[in-house]
Amino acid sequence: MTRVVVLGGGLAGVLAAVALTRHADQVVVLESDHYPAGPRPRRGLPQSHHNHVLVTGGIRALDELLPGVVDDLLNAGAHRRNMPGDCLIFSGEGWFHRVRTEADLIACSRPLLDEVVRRHAGIEVVQGVRAAGLTGDAGKVTGVRVATTPGGTLAGRPSEVAGLRATTGASGSQTTGRPSEVTGLRTTTGATLADLPDIARTGLIRADLVVDATGRRSQAPGWLAALGVPAIEEVRVPSGVSYATRLYEGPGDIPAVMVHPKYAPARGGTLFPIEGGRWIVTMTGDPPLDEAGFLAYARELRDPVIADLIAKAKPAGPIRPCHDTANRRRYFENAELPEGFLAVGDSVVTVNPVYSHGMSVAAMTASRIAKEGPGQRAVAEVADRSWRMAVAEPRKGGNAKVGRAVLSSPGLAAELFHGQALIPAVRDHHAVFRAMVDDLAEPLTAEQAISQFAWAR
Ligand SMILES: Cc1cc2nc3c(=O)[nH]c(=O)nc-3n(C[C@H](O)[C@H](O)[C@H](O)COP(=O)(O)OP(=O)(O)OC[C@H]3O[C@@H](n4cnc5c(N)ncnc54)[C@H](O)[C@@H]3O)c2cc1C
Repeated sequence: MTRVVVLGGGLAGVLAAVALTRHADQVVVLESDHYPAGPRPRRGLPQSHHNHVLVTGGIRALDELLPGVVDDLLNAGAHRRNMPGDCLIFSGEGWFHRVRTEADLIACSRPLLDEVVRRHAGIEVVQGVRAAGLTGDAGKVTGVRVATTPGGTLAGRPSEVAGLRATTGASGSQTTGRPSEVTGLRTTTGATLADLPDIARTGLIRADLVVDATGRRSQAPGWLAALGVPAIEEVRVPSGVSYATRLYEGPGDIPAVMVHPKYAPARGGTLFPIEGGRWIVTMTGDPPLDEAGFLAYARELRDPVIADLIAKAKPAGPIRPCHDTANRRRYFENAELPEGFLAVGDSVVTVNPVYSHGMSVAAMTASRIAKEGPGQRAVAEVADRSWRMAVAEPRKGGNAKVGRAVLSSPGLAAELFHGQALIPAVRDHHAVFRAMVDDLAEPLTAEQAISQFAWAR
């Protein structure tokens, strides 16, 4: 029997697990944290307080993997916006026209997205169990060493193990009891958790494939090194930005609003409508965390539209910071990896959150795994689409004429937004050329841009 053990029950872990049920007899996810009893942020996912939008590549992959999940998200209050058709966007070169493209985004809180996905996934997640290392050697990984986290379920000697607690994504139910008593829970592939007594007895779990989905702070390179695997090459490119995010109460019938800096990295801001009649507002750059400073910062952006909107809205929580925004790529695929090991998600690639890519990369990776089976090369191909865009960011002195052409040409705008949304670009080179040579429209003023939307009238 083949058993896959996925380390980390974040989005990349849960979706990889869904994909791997098509290739293995048994798939189990180990998660060090505990999921909250509703769509609420959790400790193991500090970024869950911040804005998380899903772009088209991710929307399509997610719906392919878990049919109906996107409708469920929208029914639960998420908002779909076309880019730039339903978005008010002030780029470095000016305001975008309302041009419809194939690039959409879905905006909702991260906790809602995770909960709806987990409900659809129906994957067993053993919570409160932290992966602490790998077993095997440089040629083959044979399993995982685990430890409990505070409040976890594997404390004490085996005979004292109070219960192997698990959730079934499908019902959200919880069951405890001695491992041998846990008979009612079935993995998606039909095995009961009672088939996993080795975790409780030895602190080890045997696996034919171990998938590292423990996120940006993954310890997997160190675990592999302990087995004698040479160092995993890592490239880190600072993003130069911090985040400050606050929720407001506000109507859902407004566009997503984005005010970008002239040159990255610098001050920018976004406002997305999310479920529950709320907006999630993020300032990027070096935003202050006090009320007055946050509002002043919003007003000092290149356009005060976000400040004007939040001035009339009611705050719905504290201002939360995030400083961990560096771009990082771990090149697992270039190493001589042992058999039985795969890394996915933020463990492989993490890009500056302003690109809104990580969740889509997780979904697109899982979609490849579902079709092709596990393979580090396929993971790398998806990761690199996001990575190349993030690290190729034009900085000060970038080509202003290209920027203006993007605002003037619907074809070029579609090209840009399709790339950003991780779907194939348009490639209408004539339109691009025309726009760049002689077709540069007059840029929109702020008033013209805003008046494209009914809410402003
Ligand atoms: C501020 C911010 C904003 C972002 N905005 C967006 C956005 O708009 N759109 C987008 O697509 N992406 C966004 N991202 C990226 C997104 O959060 C990640 O790409 C996404 O969460 C997928 O990551 P993951 O599942 O690989 O890792 P994580 O989400 O970090 O999940 C890792 C999981 O592993 C668990 N874990 C960790 N160590 C262990 C261990 N030793 N044993 C067992 N379990 C362990 C953790 O508790 C966690 O549940 C943003 C990121 C940040 C920081």
